[in-house]
Amino acid sequence: MSTKSIKICHIYPEALNLYGDRGNILCLKKRLEWRGIDCYVSEVKIGDNSDLSEYDFFFIGGGQDFEQEVLLSDLKSGKGRSIKSAVEDGKTFLCICGGYQMMGHYYETKDGNRMEFLGVANFATIGSEYRMIGDYFFKCTPESGGCEIVGFENHSGRTYLGEGVAPLGHLIYGYGNNGDDDTEGVRYKNLFGSYSHGPILPKNPEFADYLIQTTLDRKYGHVDLAPLDDSVENDAHDHMINLILKGAANKN
Ligand code: GLN
Repeated sequence: MSTKSIKICHIYPEALNLYGDRGNILCLKKRLEWRGIDCYVSEVKIGDNSDLSEYDFFFIGGGQDFEQEVLLSDLKSGKGRSIKSAVEDGKTFLCICGGYQMMGHYYETKDGNRMEFLGVANFATIGSEYRMIGDYFFKCTPESGGCEIVGFENHSGRTYLGEGVAPLGHLIYGYGNNGDDDTEGVRYKNLFGSYSHGPILPKNPEFADYLIQTTLDRKYGHVDLAPLDDSVENDAHDHMINLILKGAANKN
């Protein structure tokens, strides 16, 4: 039996799960198990208990404007407060696209419908007329591991970061947060937000391990993470980057 374990909480899997976002959970579970670390996954849905204190890692996937709106009353009924205190407590969060937008102050759609979100971190999102769609590629800041991430984005929301929060990384190719300031995603405490569907973690094993390391270190103090053979995953990752750089990935 392992002496170490990680409890993962998948928030709103029934509503926020686009482009295989759930694959992030499978990836984390396998990478932990391959190292002999126990992993327990719980799904927390609309209407479920709001006490999130037992979890170490939280995942929230992407969703369309409609799904985001459906969640508002559940967030206000207590889950929002629990999410906020887990972030402040240094728990690891990976939030993708619609789930990422939810952690900011608000999302105003292109029709002027403003959804007041959690304000966990200081940023906000405004809808635009055109959608930012395609394979894209960015480099995380050194404070967020420095990995090169390849992913797929599809959003009309443009996210603008305010004071006190840093981007997750800087774009090499694509739109990222808003298509005009070269930033992608957010990093606030151990909250990692990104527009990268795909899903992000199986395609970017170095980033998956960065999140695992962050979670284990918070729980146990420094933990040495045994290396895995990622040659196949890295080949796929590098192949995708080459396609993007050659301008071939987004042609169909
Ligand atoms: N509804 C949001 C947007 O279009 C999020 C979309 C998504 O999660 N892919 O900006």
